[in-house]
Amino acid sequence: MSFWTSIDMGLDYKSIRQDFPILQTMMNGKPLVFLDSAASSQKPQRVIDAFEDYYRCRNANIHRGAYRLSYEATDLYDGTRKKMAAFLGAESPDEIIFTRNTTESINLVAYSWGLSNLKPGDEVLVSELEHHSNLVPWMIAAKKTGAVLKHLPLTEDHKYDYSKIDSVLSPKTRMVALAHMSNAVGTIHDIELLAKKAHAVGALFSVDGAQGACHLPVDVRKIDCDFYSLSAHKMLGPTGVGVLYGKRKLLEGMDPFLGGGDMILTVQKDSYLPAELPMKFEAGTPNIAGVVAFAIALEYLRQAGLSNIHQHEQEIVRYAVEEMKRVQGVTLYGTSDFASRGGVVSFNVDGVHPHDVGSILDEEGIAVRAGHHCCEPFMRKLDISGTVRASFYLYNGPEDVDALIRGIKRVKEIFKK
Ligand code: PMP
Repeated sequence: MSFWTSIDMGLDYKSIRQDFPILQTMMNGKPLVFLDSAASSQKPQRVIDAFEDYYRCRNANIHRGAYRLSYEATDLYDGTRKKMAAFLGAESPDEIIFTRNTTESINLVAYSWGLSNLKPGDEVLVSELEHHSNLVPWMIAAKKTGAVLKHLPLTEDHKYDYSKIDSVLSPKTRMVALAHMSNAVGTIHDIELLAKKAHAVGALFSVDGAQGACHLPVDVRKIDCDFYSLSAHKMLGPTGVGVLYGKRKLLEGMDPFLGGGDMILTVQKDSYLPAELPMKFEAGTPNIAGVVAFAIALEYLRQAGLSNIHQHEQEIVRYAVEEMKRVQGVTLYGTSDFASRGGVVSFNVDGVHPHDVGSILDEEGIAVRAGHHCCEPFMRKLDISGTVRASFYLYNGPEDVDALIRGIKRVKEIFKK
């Protein structure tokens, strides 16, 4: 703990933890140590309250009601859009589209932009480190249009190899689709540089921000990305709510992704006119309660401060890596350049399947993820079936790392016999 206690903590994670009811519970007879926030974060009481309050006192469908309850629900729903626009530094709330999750946001871009803009021989730049959600939609778009996927090479320590970027970009590149941060090994990528490089060859830049906006300050105008996708459930909000940020001009030029109610201006017998932004991309009744409660999560993150959260996670990861290096027979993945690394530690215990490690840790009340983390091409590149992943957030502290280390030692003891 000496390393940790020497740090001036910017974030009072101990009092933050009190806001999360699930973190006060027991798991398998032990206090829950939750180390799987990269999959989905826990929710503070006030987000849970907002969700319940919506259904108890404010529930009505939005946009169409001729009565006060519906106007109020509409205001709350669109209020989150305004907060989200401010959170991301977007020019206007019209550039914020609510979807179900990051996966749907990326699919929206791949279908609505990709199918109308990609031609045979055009190139989409991805990487082998991407989550399946930032690969498969582009595979589908490429298959339908005749475009081809190119891959940005990776360095030995799992960064994008920026020294090779000019060799994989060309005037044929129409889209660069890369992540803000890797969910598998925690690398934070230089997305400002990637935006510049993409634009220099006339391509667009779409950021998979599922692990970005929850852990890092994001300013879409400073980054100058064209699209940025995220999931509310990874940033203290409810499941079933995602966001696509897109530059107004691009969104205006794209066809709707889904057709139905709410996304139209008028409908004739054989034709329709789409609504203006953002409604053009929000067909049907959305997850109103989820979007309303998401505003409270955004406010919580704003108050904690994304820079503080990022710094806190970096300190925990540094501590975790130092401690894990002292345990023999543990293989660590990810860069040792901590400035380019977020709150993820991916590892394997030699000779033990990741799922067995996960199960033994679970017996100790420690929740981690084991497997390929939806990054099969990357695992194949490393020639492993998967890793164990511990991921940290604003409510984790060094005692969680200590519990993890004790758990790993227990795994080793069990498998020694
Ligand atoms: N991209 C990355 C980098 C992710 O970590 C995830 C979630 N694990 C996704 C995309 C997909 O997010 P969702 O399941 O919320 O659509």
